Amino acid sequence: KKITIAIDGYSSTGKSTVAKQLADHLGYVYVDSGAMYRAVTLYAMQHDIISKNHFDTLKLKQSLGSIDLKFKKEYVWSKAHIFLNEQDVEDKIRNLEVSEFVSPIATIHEVRKKLVAQQQQMGLEKGVVMDGRDIGTVVFPNAELKIFMNASAQERAQRRYKELLERSENIQFDEVLKNIQERDHIDTTRQDSPLVKAADAIEIDNSEMNLEDQFHTVLQLAKD
Ligand code: C5P
Repeated sequence: KKITIAIDGYSSTGKSTVAKQLADHLGYVYVDSGAMYRAVTLYAMQHDIISKNHFDTLKLKQSLGSIDLKFKKEYVWSKAHIFLNEQDVEDKIRNLEVSEFVSPIATIHEVRKKLVAQQQQMGLEKGVVMDGRDIGTVVFPNAELKIFMNASAQERAQRRYKELLERSENIQFDEVLKNIQERDHIDTTRQDSPLVKAADAIEIDNSEMNLEDQFHTVLQLAKD
C-alpha cells in the first residue's frame, strides 16, 4: 500500500538526498518543496521585488498570480526539474544569492498559502515523498511517515560548501556557515508555520552517518 512520506529538517541536513533515494526505490513521486520557495525567490529577484536593501512585500503578494510553478519529470522523479513560467530554473535556484533571499520570501503568509495549496494537490494521490520545513506539520499532517532530519551546523556547512565548490562558486566556508545559521534562525522564528519537529516525527541525526546507513534506516521505517 502506497503512503505519504514527509521529510523535514534544518537546511542542508541531506533531506533531499534521502528523499530522492527513497522515491526512486519505492517508485514514488518526489517533490522538493524548497525548490518552489527558491523559484518564487528567483522571480522576486528578477522583478525588483527583493535585493540587498529592499523587499517590496506588497508587490510580491500582487505578483503571486503571475507565478506558475511546475515540476517536469525526467525518467525518474529524483531528476525532475522545476519550471518557473515555463522556464527551466532548476540550476539557477541553487546559487548562494537565491539562498540568501529565500528565507525572508518564505516568511510571507500569502506565498506559503499558495505553495502549500499546490503541494497538497500534488499529494492527493498516495505514493509521494516530499521534503521541506513544514511538510509533516502543515502540508501533510496526516502523513503515514514523518522524518525529521538534523545534523550539526558545522557538518551541514561542510557538505553545502563542498557542493557549492563543485558548482565552482567563488565562496568562503564562513559565508556558507553564516547563511545556514541565518536560515535556521529565520525558519524557526517566523510567525507562519515555523520549522518545528512534528510531535509524531522520527528524528534522525545524521552528523555521523554515511548515506547508505541513512538510506537503510529510512527505508526500514517506510516498510514498517
Ligand atoms: O530546502 P531548501 O534549503 O532548498 O529550502 C530553501 C528555503 O525555503 C528554506 O531555508 C526555507 O526558508 C524555505 N522553505 C520553507 N518551507 C518549505 C521548504 C522550504 O519555508 N516547505
